[in-house]
Amino acid sequence: MKTPLPELRHTAAHVLAYAAQDLFPDAKPTIGPAIENGFYYDFDRAEAFTPEDLARLEARMAEIVKANYAMTGRPVTRAEALSIFRGNPYKVEIASEIPEGEPITLYTIGEFTDLCRGGHADFTGEIGALKLTSVAGAYWRGDERKPMLQRIYGTAWYDRAELDAYLAQVEEALQRDHRKLGAELDLYSVEEDAGAGLIFWHPKGAIVRGLIEDFIRQGLRERGYQPVVTPHVVSEKLYEISGHLENFAQNMFGPLEVEEQRFRLKPMNCPGHILIYRSRLHSYRDLPVRYSEFGTVYRYERSGVVHGLTRVRGFTQDDAHIFCTPEQLQGEFELTLDEAMRLMNAFGFSDFEYVLSTRDDALRTETDPVAEDAIRKALERFGLPHSVDPGGGAFYGPKLDINVRDAIGRKWQLGTVQVDFILPARFELKYRASDGHDRTPVMIHRALAGSLERFFGIAIEHFGGAFPAWLAPVQAAVVPISEHQQDYAREVAARLTGMGRRVEVDESNEKLGHKIRHWKKQKVPYILVVGKQEAAEGTVNVNQRGVEDKRTVSVGTFAEQLQSIIEAKK
Ligand SMILES: [Zn+2]
Ligand SMILES: [Zn+2]
Repeated sequence: MKTPLPELRHTAAHVLAYAAQDLFPDAKPTIGPAIENGFYYDFDRAEAFTPEDLARLEARMAEIVKANYAMTGRPVTRAEALSIFRGNPYKVEIASEIPEGEPITLYTIGEFTDLCRGGHADFTGEIGALKLTSVAGAYWRGDERKPMLQRIYGTAWYDRAELDAYLAQVEEALQRDHRKLGAELDLYSVEEDAGAGLIFWHPKGAIVRGLIEDFIRQGLRERGYQPVVTPHVVSEKLYEISGHLENFAQNMFGPLEVEEQRFRLKPMNCPGHILIYRSRLHSYRDLPVRYSEFGTVYRYERSGVVHGLTRVRGFTQDDAHIFCTPEQLQGEFELTLDEAMRLMNAFGFSDFEYVLSTRDDALRTETDPVAEDAIRKALERFGLPHSVDPGGGAFYGPKLDINVRDAIGRKWQLGTVQVDFILPARFELKYRASDGHDRTPVMIHRALAGSLERFFGIAIEHFGGAFPAWLAPVQAAVVPISEHQQDYAREVAARLTGMGRRVEVDESNEKLGHKIRHWKKQKVPYILVVGKQEAAEGTVNVNQRGVEDKRTVSVGTFAEQLQSIIEAKK
């Protein structure tokens, strides 16, 4: 039987530390776990590892693998471990902290012995292919008050073909990185003077955002949601009632004081929607009540962990809250799933995964099975398979996560639909039931795109920046061959713009080849080249993204074709 990949990769970390011991005896090994797709090892060394150092380490690792050393383990006493590692304060710290009664073990390959809990390949030769990929700074135990170490990352596989496939995927992901494309296509920026994790949407990015919002809004209208708008800053009192101050304060921005009253930037839209619900009486006949908002929220993230569009400090959720009876839960989940599928299909995501998380036994009440059953039945209704994460649910109630795979096979979590039995009770929400008694409604929180920032980042990478025509910030660029066709180019653009298309004219004095390359790099779906003949005949030469053959058609024909492609969201 093959050694599981995490164990193979952790073994590769030992091999790396062995190679480092041989080549850089001054580097103190600390820890070296397996991670997704690979492994790392953290070293304490005054001098920085260079790319040349990594190449030498990799070559030495290949020799260690080839030598096919057996991985042998033996238990030791704490005193023995402390003595063996006395020159290495990190290992001493680890050995000192292993709880009394737990085994302390050493593992050896060749001439290298490490303090380790175990979980390895039996022989180093089982590592079929490996590569060191990068080096980065990392604090000991992730604590910025502790020493800065050097973390060498690597990847390891059963064979060469797997390694090559993985490296090709990494390269592809690099080409699609939304931070790189965001700058190249002038979509958004993060500004140093404004602070980390706050997104400035440039005109082209804002066009795409507007289209995403329009698309979602239409779906909400069709499903009976009512739009609401709530303030960004509210009194801290609200988050005392909601429990956010108690349970979520570390993720919130600090208080702002005005007239001796403390205010907070909103970290979530729910309490605001609850206040709107609570502001009037509701009969069972009004339910379900569905409030939606593109709600901008602010959450504190350490500046070291913010990342492009996918991890930010301010973002806008396609948020909605549904207040309903327990009997209405299934219908509401069906409506939400239908809406989620509409969104995924339009953006060309396939390969969905639905995960139902239930609440921990300690939190479960008699209403949990009712909600879980409603979610399950709604999924069955659409023939959607799901997996269950027992105990993985939030504090509030059971929830459903929707994951998708993008064009290069990476998995992303998008939507979450959360049942909530807690907040309606905390805010004493009511509806008058048919028997005349007041009852507490169930609340559903749902965001399907999640955050628009993150969704945009995923979409940029999924499309590799080449947005489909309906979503492209510039749908067509009109490129005159020479200055003599400048007027005709403007005429064509004006005609298309008049029909609601997003069109730009290339007004530069560059050579034709240069102009075409520019628009191709901008990933514009259609480049319309116009020369003397096109101007005379009222046509355009269509250079379609991803299509080798060019075709000359009348402006009217092109406009009609583009119209139908946009309507079909192809
Ligand atoms: Zn180990
Ligand atoms: Zn909510």
